[in-house]
Amino acid sequence: MSQALYRKYRPQAFADVIGQDIIKTILQNALRLGQVGHAYLFTGPRGVGKTTIARILAKAVNCEHLRDGEVDNKCANCLAVSTGRFLDLIEIDAASYTGVDNIREIIEHVKFAPTTGRYKVFIIDEVHMLSKAAFSALLKTLEEPPAHAIFIMATTEAHKVPETVVSRSQRLDFRRVSKRDILSLFEFVLKQEDVNIAKEALSLLAEAADGSFRDALSLLDQVISFGAKKITVEQVEDALGITRTAVSQKFLDFLIRGEAAPAVEFVKRLTLEGRDLQQFTRIFLEYLRLVLFLKLGVEKSADLGLAEEDALGLKRQSSELQSARLLEIIKAIIEAYREIKTVPVPELPLMAQVLALCRNTLEKGGSPPRTDQPKNEPGEVNVNLALGLVVEKWAEVLARVKEYNHSLLSSLRLGRLVELTGGEELVVAFPYTFHKDTVEARKNRIVIEQVLEEVFGSPLRVKVLLEREIKDEPAQKRPPTGDLLGEAVRILGEQL
Ligand SMILES: [Zn+2]
Repeated sequence: MSQALYRKYRPQAFADVIGQDIIKTILQNALRLGQVGHAYLFTGPRGVGKTTIARILAKAVNCEHLRDGEVDNKCANCLAVSTGRFLDLIEIDAASYTGVDNIREIIEHVKFAPTTGRYKVFIIDEVHMLSKAAFSALLKTLEEPPAHAIFIMATTEAHKVPETVVSRSQRLDFRRVSKRDILSLFEFVLKQEDVNIAKEALSLLAEAADGSFRDALSLLDQVISFGAKKITVEQVEDALGITRTAVSQKFLDFLIRGEAAPAVEFVKRLTLEGRDLQQFTRIFLEYLRLVLFLKLGVEKSADLGLAEEDALGLKRQSSELQSARLLEIIKAIIEAYREIKTVPVPELPLMAQVLALCRNTLEKGGSPPRTDQPKNEPGEVNVNLALGLVVEKWAEVLARVKEYNHSLLSSLRLGRLVELTGGEELVVAFPYTFHKDTVEARKNRIVIEQVLEEVFGSPLRVKVLLEREIKDEPAQKRPPTGDLLGEAVRILGEQL
């Protein structure tokens, strides 16, 4: 690739610009009505299309065949702007010239009529960088601009532009680009470059671009330069400097502190990002192996070839964890790793193990719940722990129901476990009547209750509700809030 993607795919017409719809509408309406102003101030973060739209506007006011506010990209003026050879477009980067002389030069230019086009267009990028003297020279021009002149000033720091300049301009605020917009840009670019990038990898890149088209495409440039035909999440993580060690350490910290809710949230996020949970679990197990080796003195952290920060974290975690607890975590994660393959909801085994591990911490008093939370009545805690048990084994329940009736499974999976009343009535809530009715049907209910008895060794009745019916119930009938486990159970419930 000879040129950067950002230049190669710079939009050449309003229709090619992704996002910034309000701005495009305002400018194209002005073009249709022949009411383009003499001074615009484009504000907004870097890389969101300010200069790109400024150039398209410069093209539009000079296009010989402007149609419905859109350029034709065929006339001599359009082609000249696209290739950077248009004499009546003057671009100044104020970040590199802040002196008054440069502005004087501009003013010299303003007096003369355009050479080939109808308008002389001045684009002043990073206008807030102009010196005071330069601003006052600019201001004089803006007070009485010649009819053939259009100034487009762009800035990332609008508050640094003098009020006198702002008040003489039409200000247009550019928005941060959404992740969705960045993904559609990627889709457009990749269609034309012969590269295959995993969907999750693109999502990571879009996230890292942090609302900037320019950053998005330069990240894509980097990744494509690996030269691989198929680019994986791991390669992108490496390019972005996201170490797998750091991700594993974060997850282990939640388990060490017994923080069920953030740990479950973490798994939920991996799922939403489309990560392969089995792969994550394997990577996490590899990390746990390092912790174990360090604990047993088999390895020294210096020999592991980790980055300094990662090595420090590893050392800390290995000394914080008692051997028994470490083994407990390893066993639980191995268990989850095995189950992930066989369960229709792959995040469930990992979430269930997380809950079990964090519950143990709470019961053993290893890490007390935060004290700023209200204490629960003893009875309520029991109800919650029992529900926790059902949640833990819910994957097994679903798997067994599947053996009996596959279509019942698809309805039951949408249910949220709400509470276990008196330890014998399991309340399950559904978003839609259809699924509620399916689960409630006599023959189906018999299947579910039979499976529950098989799994838990004692009979459990099932009560089925609609989500909105729960919301109508008085607050005290809802599961108690405040304890971490209860919170985690509810988060988990939403995932079922
Ligand atoms: Zn044209």
